[in-house]
Amino acid sequence: MAEETQELHFLLFPLMSHSHIIPFIDFAMLLAQRGIIVSIITTPLNFTRYQPAIRDAVEAGLKLRMIPLEFRAEEAGLPQGCENLDSVGSMDGILKFLCACEMLAAPLQKLMPDLHPKPSCIVASVVFPWTDRFNIPMYIFNPNSCFSLFCCLLISPGLPAPPDSEPFVVPDIPHKIEFSAAQFSMIMNLKKPGRSSARGTVANCFEEMEGGYVDRYAKVAGSTVWCIGPVSLCNKKSKDEYNYISWLDSKKEGSVMYVCFGSLSRISAEQIKEIGLGLEASGFPFVWIVRDDSQVEVEEWLGDIEERVGDRGLIIRGWAPQVLLLSHPSVGGFLTHCGWNSTLEGVSAGVPMITWPMFFEQFVNEKLVVNVLKVGVEIGAEPPREDQTRELVKWDRVKEAIEKLMDGDEQGRERRTRSKKLAEMAAQALEPHGSSYKNISLFIQDVISTKVSPKPH
Ligand code: UDP
Repeated sequence: MAEETQELHFLLFPLMSHSHIIPFIDFAMLLAQRGIIVSIITTPLNFTRYQPAIRDAVEAGLKLRMIPLEFRAEEAGLPQGCENLDSVGSMDGILKFLCACEMLAAPLQKLMPDLHPKPSCIVASVVFPWTDRFNIPMYIFNPNSCFSLFCCLLISPGLPAPPDSEPFVVPDIPHKIEFSAAQFSMIMNLKKPGRSSARGTVANCFEEMEGGYVDRYAKVAGSTVWCIGPVSLCNKKSKDEYNYISWLDSKKEGSVMYVCFGSLSRISAEQIKEIGLGLEASGFPFVWIVRDDSQVEVEEWLGDIEERVGDRGLIIRGWAPQVLLLSHPSVGGFLTHCGWNSTLEGVSAGVPMITWPMFFEQFVNEKLVVNVLKVGVEIGAEPPREDQTRELVKWDRVKEAIEKLMDGDEQGRERRTRSKKLAEMAAQALEPHGSSYKNISLFIQDVISTKVSPKPH
């Protein structure tokens, strides 16, 4: 394919959220490794933050770059400098943010004639269906599993909701998947992707973990689907700037709980305390990423817990190199909010998970982990109430879930064995001749075929 790909130039356009930019950059690496020229469209702040992530690849000769376009946050009613979803706090803010994103259409259109070679296609986040207007083949990148996409499409407005006290059972699928009434209504109200004339969907998952759900989803969505993940496995050694690895090196294999709630979830001070108490009481070593430490009481309290647990716990404020840490042999469990990237990174690292979903499709991802893949233990979380408050999960439930997950009993051992097996399958999927490797080739072939016979829009 080397010759054919010489003049291929793919534009990648992620939503400006960590959970989109990170897998897009990894996907860009995988494409560039096949000899494709890749340009990632983003905004100035995200450019500054993520440009270093591609520096090594560029120095190694990959034809990869990021192009910043001016982002008119204020015009959309957002504060100046709001260029990433992590700085948007409300539903109203998210809608404004998506409006500001659509305003990027004009500068992108203006950029097109200056791009050389001429772009062969654009691959955009699922929330940018409008990117089919540039007169080049358009594909959707969906950073989710086909299982979740399928369930979310099935549970759409029009379905009769279950009575409050009864669970909703997803009909006509091989697994018994039940949602509580509150989970059901959260999933039902998820915004479904807008219509576009995309040629197909690239999904960050791998066929072996999906059972029959790739075909089911493709059929319901009426779209060609290429599963090309887990893209995080293209990683390269990320840098351990803070010596977290030497701390992990000092712990026994499989003994450490890794706790992180992704880049968007906001956890209340009260809940942070309960999590800390649960980690302390469990007796297991832990790495705990705390993003919401800006409240003074939380910081004081984190200091206290650090004193009490000493070297047994590592609390990281802000941001941690998650993929690097999770794949360390000392990590034996992952308490996750079930964001798709985190879930897949947990699967790829071969660690069983405690599932604690916060929003939206995270509740579906939980079902995949617990009921389909059988590598997880539920904490038993429910969506926020109407006034946005949540049930407090007390420390003893956190402790029990950790003990159950890390326990060496038969169920625990089976969960661990399944996790390791899945991680092997994930790694194989991206090896030459693996399913995702082949699907990347098929996707590239599809782009090449449009050069010969473009599909009418
Ligand atoms: N992440 C990270 N360090 C952190 C927090 C998050 O590297 O301290 C990464 C994580 O590895 C994942 C992404 O940020 O790739 C979060 O995406 P996910 O879909 O899990 O959740 P979201 O942030 O959308 O809730």
